[in-house]
Amino acid sequence: MEFVNIVMAGVAIVSCNGALLRCRDAFAVQQQLGGSNGVNRVSCRSSGNSIAGSSSSSSSSRSSVSSSCSGSGDGVLRLWSMMALGREQRQLLQWRLLRQQRRLCSSFLLSPVEENKKSLLLLWGGGGGGGDSRRCVNVGSVVCCSGLQQEAVGSRTGENFLTLPVNPLARNERENELLRNLVESGDGEETGKKTRTVYNIVFVTAEAAPYSKTGGLGDVCGSLPMALAGRGHRVMVVSPRYMKGGGVGVTTTTTEDSVFAGAFDCQCRITIGCFNAAHEVAFFHEFRGGVDWVFVDHPSYHRPGTPYGDTRGAYGDNQFRFTLLCHAACEAPLVLPLGGYTYGDKCLFIANDWHAGLVPVLLAAKYRPHNVYKNSRCIVAIHNLAHQGVEAGTTYANLGLPPEWYSALEWVFPMWARKHALDKGEAVNHLKGAIVTADRILTVSEGYAWEITTPEGGNGLDGLLASRKAVINGITNGIDIDDWNPLTDKHLSSSFSLNDLAGKAECKAALQKELGLPVRSEVPLIGFIGRLDYQKGPDVIQAALPELMTDDVQLVMLGSGDPDVERWMTWAEREFKEKFRGWVGFSVPVAHRITAGCDILLMPSRFEPCGLNQLYAMRYGTVPVAHSTGGLRDTIQNFDPHAENGQGSGTGWTFSPLTKEAMMGALWTSIFTFRNDKDGWIRLMQRGMIKDFSWDRAALQYEQVFDWAVIDPPYA
Ligand code: ADP
Repeated sequence: MEFVNIVMAGVAIVSCNGALLRCRDAFAVQQQLGGSNGVNRVSCRSSGNSIAGSSSSSSSSRSSVSSSCSGSGDGVLRLWSMMALGREQRQLLQWRLLRQQRRLCSSFLLSPVEENKKSLLLLWGGGGGGGDSRRCVNVGSVVCCSGLQQEAVGSRTGENFLTLPVNPLARNERENELLRNLVESGDGEETGKKTRTVYNIVFVTAEAAPYSKTGGLGDVCGSLPMALAGRGHRVMVVSPRYMKGGGVGVTTTTTEDSVFAGAFDCQCRITIGCFNAAHEVAFFHEFRGGVDWVFVDHPSYHRPGTPYGDTRGAYGDNQFRFTLLCHAACEAPLVLPLGGYTYGDKCLFIANDWHAGLVPVLLAAKYRPHNVYKNSRCIVAIHNLAHQGVEAGTTYANLGLPPEWYSALEWVFPMWARKHALDKGEAVNHLKGAIVTADRILTVSEGYAWEITTPEGGNGLDGLLASRKAVINGITNGIDIDDWNPLTDKHLSSSFSLNDLAGKAECKAALQKELGLPVRSEVPLIGFIGRLDYQKGPDVIQAALPELMTDDVQLVMLGSGDPDVERWMTWAEREFKEKFRGWVGFSVPVAHRITAGCDILLMPSRFEPCGLNQLYAMRYGTVPVAHSTGGLRDTIQNFDPHAENGQGSGTGWTFSPLTKEAMMGALWTSIFTFRNDKDGWIRLMQRGMIKDFSWDRAALQYEQVFDWAVIDPPYA
């Protein structure tokens, strides 16, 4: 679709938070519909009275706006002019418009608008004396309205009618609906793989697979950037150059430094002032999959263990290590001539989790006051709210931030959480700093986007997050469908597909053999893969194991983390030799083989921002049984054998509450179905296998959020 004019009209232009807001909306629409070249005029029109302004059609014209209270004709307000106004001028303009409001008439004609089918009409203010779109016969085919009722404005039915509510929260709901529809309707695919607005995107992350990974964060930052690059964006990922095996999620020392072999020294050193010293960091670079992978090199990243700790627990200097990462990531687009030229200071940063939390704070506190990154935006992506980067308040002085920005990170523990009588509970919270300074907030599923605004799921930040609800969206993670493809998976001994499931049976037999379990196709093989952390609910499995082991089933658990659970897994293996295997450690190949070989994947997570294992499982015809929370609830549809004329519907089972009894209830049902409804089980597997969990789907939604992020001026 191509539009020539955008007309914003309505009686309530002013009351709806002022004309400026409307201009921003128009700007968003303009961007969506083809960028500044596609639309050559944006007009803002109130009924009866008008604002007069420049009507130049050249976007380079930045003439100031003169508003008029007396005119009764059509005024054209140039969007660009409006955006160029200073704050005081804007207020004056809004005040004058408020006075005009009293003289509104109940209907207004749109006929003076050029009779151009390519015009886009935006009607603001619902039906209360506002526009009547039935009269808009000579205007383009899309009608947008900020009113609540389509009927109220007499819209022509059958049109692409889109409401953009004025209330920010209602608007957020509408945005979420829009994101959902993007996926369902496949909008955007019509234009092929290329996106319409191209951004310089900078991911800042502590993990990016295959270079470093302990969980979903690594997977997402390893594959989403490539999906976005494939759609035409220029994408950089900045993460640490972990050496001595520190990049993989192992609890023991390994040497997997070879994953960084393709990254070369950029011969660019910068000095970062923080933690009372000047620290020199180097940059390494690899161009792969259309993405600039930039690795920040510093001795503190060279140690065995995981990116965050080793067998003795978390590293004591993580705050320093990730502060360094944030500073370096803010410099990288300015100083690295990747492919010959730098990214420059007009970037869209995606700060992932607390490790990158200082990025939006630095943009606001360190760069923008000096006119750098003025046109950049930052989206904070929350993959797990449980980790916030909380340190003593006194460490603020180490972060390389101006003292007056302390309140952005300030965090005071409630009384009950303080350790002793003299403890004032003063702390800094890196993720909180990001939440209060980022332009928008993203989570990795829609369910989790809501959960984090509630006391149950907010980890103490729910109040703050609720106050920014208008800019929070959830986008369900995609998966790397090449890496996780049962037809081509290099870790499997046999391949299989939707129409040929014989290979899956072979994978099951191979897994049973590898684990030393009896090779029996008829016994349900249940798997668990994940960090052995309270979040993942291994304690619920512990509680249920004796009961589960009374039946003819097999269970394999792969994971590392809590030493108690690791020890318990070793004990359970001895106790239930013929039925249970516990693989302590982190092994991507074994994870692939369990995902392919099992019949059922068990996920009793207490909370799950998105969860990737259930997506991998469904793609491999393994049926998930999971706690109904966050992304698990969003992505697993409950099995109903009677739906669709007996063909059945759903892709797995979710249970709630998270108790041993509820979990066992769901497990027994799934085991019963596996044994007694063979055809139904195959259809259940196939419904999961045909689901589209590709990043292409999610990338579309990300782009939509990028567009929203650049509409408003920087938030901080
Ligand atoms: P989280 O990020 O909370 O750990 P996700 O489900 O989002 O959970 O992602 C976990 C990722 O880490 C998946 O790719 C999973 O296969 C992988 N993973 C977790 N534990 C292990 C392990 N012990 N060995 C191999 N891969 C693992």
